[in-house]
Amino acid sequence: MSRFWNPLIKKLVPYVPGEQPKIQDLVKLNTNENPFPPSPKVLAAISAATGEGLRLYPDPDASALKATIANYYNLTPDCVFVGNGSDEVLAHTFQALFNPERPLLFPDITYSFYPVYCGLYRQAFETVPLDEQFKIRVEKYDGLNGGIIFPNPNAPTGCLLSLDEIERLLKVNTETVVVVDEAYIDFGGESAAKLIDRYDNLLVVQTLSKSRSLAGMRVGLALGHPELIEALERVKNSFNSYPLDKLAQAGAVAAFEDDGYFQQCRDDVIREREALVDRLSAMGFEVLPSAANFVFCRHAERDAGELAAALRERKVIVRHFMSERIAQFLRITIGTSQQNSKLLEALEAILGSK
Ligand code: PMP
Repeated sequence: MSRFWNPLIKKLVPYVPGEQPKIQDLVKLNTNENPFPPSPKVLAAISAATGEGLRLYPDPDASALKATIANYYNLTPDCVFVGNGSDEVLAHTFQALFNPERPLLFPDITYSFYPVYCGLYRQAFETVPLDEQFKIRVEKYDGLNGGIIFPNPNAPTGCLLSLDEIERLLKVNTETVVVVDEAYIDFGGESAAKLIDRYDNLLVVQTLSKSRSLAGMRVGLALGHPELIEALERVKNSFNSYPLDKLAQAGAVAAFEDDGYFQQCRDDVIREREALVDRLSAMGFEVLPSAANFVFCRHAERDAGELAAALRERKVIVRHFMSERIAQFLRITIGTSQQNSKLLEALEAILGSK
């Protein structure tokens, strides 16, 4: 830290992303990527977009992509915003759509990027504890606030709210924006996108990183009333008017067009998750009900940090959070059946060798 730093930056505690190890032969179940490759049609679209055309700037409005997404969700293109991963879409949302002086409400436990953005954008915030079953308590979000944000399903717990519960929250909170971060919605939930025409304060944020196997490409999106989208566009055009490069735009269009491939991978992940939950439960883990591509679980007798370290020695990496309230949990991304078998074999060896 030097004396030249902006005082705000001096106080900022940055988000620590999950590890992207350089070693190749690890079973990597720590950052919720999809274990299956992107659709071959996405790869073909990206190759077709490379070449001489890269000399020119991309479409700053990503109109083809917005039209594709609008069609997919039965909305008009002015209800769609796209950005460089949903983390960037969320950053623009924090700048554009919350009242910084009133507390933004989000759950305690949730995606740990939210408090970081609050620090960056001087956003006041308050956290609302989960219930005993680690579920979001919708009835606790009805006070005066500067906005509301939560993932559905929640991260890192994987627990899902129904659309009825979300609608209840929207009905009592009509004066501020409610952001539903649907990074994992495709793995078992119902998108709130269908509520957009009834609630002008609802913003749904999604990503192509998880269910569409494109974390490396960085495409996120927001769906909402055109006036909310216009605010996001203003921030974008004042920050980086070309957030999505040509290859990402082409690849993302193809990802939405190849719905059959998407559904097949999604169903495979869900099937693998159900099998993994059964096996982990049989080994003495309590596994929270998950609607995501990961499970959040704790062992009745063994320390989570020690389990994570022992798995790592056996070349399997899972996520262990240091934060006190969840220090007894492991978050395990659903892998292919081979990867999940390696995880289970390693766990059997570790638990058997107590
Ligand atoms: N929201 C939640 C709840 C997440 O877990 C993640 C992934 N870390 C993101 C948003 C961001 O995903 P991306 O930037 O890859 O779209």
